[in-house]
Amino acid sequence: MGQKVTDQVAEMRSLPAGIDQRSPARHPDWLGPDDLALKIEEIREATNWEIPIQLKLGAARVYDDVRMAAKCGPDSIYIDGMEGSTGAGPHIATEDTGVPGIAAIRQARRAIDELGLRGKISLVYAGGIRNGGDVAKALALGADAIAIGHSVMMALNCNKEIPESDFEAEIGVPAGRCYHCHTGRCPVGVATQDPELRKRLDPDEAAERVYNFLHTLTLEAQMLARACGKTDIHSLEPEDLAALTMEASAMAQVPLAGTDHTVGVANYHKLG
Ligand code: SF4
Repeated sequence: MGQKVTDQVAEMRSLPAGIDQRSPARHPDWLGPDDLALKIEEIREATNWEIPIQLKLGAARVYDDVRMAAKCGPDSIYIDGMEGSTGAGPHIATEDTGVPGIAAIRQARRAIDELGLRGKISLVYAGGIRNGGDVAKALALGADAIAIGHSVMMALNCNKEIPESDFEAEIGVPAGRCYHCHTGRCPVGVATQDPELRKRLDPDEAAERVYNFLHTLTLEAQMLARACGKTDIHSLEPEDLAALTMEASAMAQVPLAGTDHTVGVANYHKLG
């Protein structure tokens, strides 16, 4: 919205100040994988082959999508699982679309490995990562790295009532149910260009909270790797996992706890 394109934003993004901007849901200059491969080459040339190129995909038809994406030659593929959130998307899009991370990571890993691209294209998973346990499980299922969005926003104070804020009065919903990033009226000063609201965020204190969160996340993931007898979190593997429900077993393709049965996979542990 034009009201968010302040002079500062206009300068950073080469836009006219105060004018609404179109934000298309897709890139109009590519229609399929062939165009995408050309676009990646074009960006590589424009950035002098110095900047890694990442393709970010919503987790949907993961196996097919990742196979196609991998053939386009990115440096990494980023899968956004169903648990991922947004500060401004339509409610129905966040609640009723997507595939859970435990299923998406396994399918994406298989797609990359079958093309012989393990180690050449990194697999990054994002969506609902809140603690070191989530990190360890994502890596064990096959992610090379994880990305974090909303939980770091929380560390910045997103959706938290602070002394200066009044969520009910200012945006009409209690703290914890905000999702008003697109309005520019963020009560905690995180997602806003309003100079008065921005004063509610102290960048130094916020940076310390984010540091504490990331540091704790790392220590927790390391602890779980050690508990599995690993010296490196990247040595975690599906064999370190057990599923607690039939559904989890089927989606993650790991055995049901206390059995050697992986739901939906006949003789899985006798293969190979
Ligand atoms: S407007 Fe602010 S508090 Fe509300 S969801 Fe966005 S970042 Fe969080």
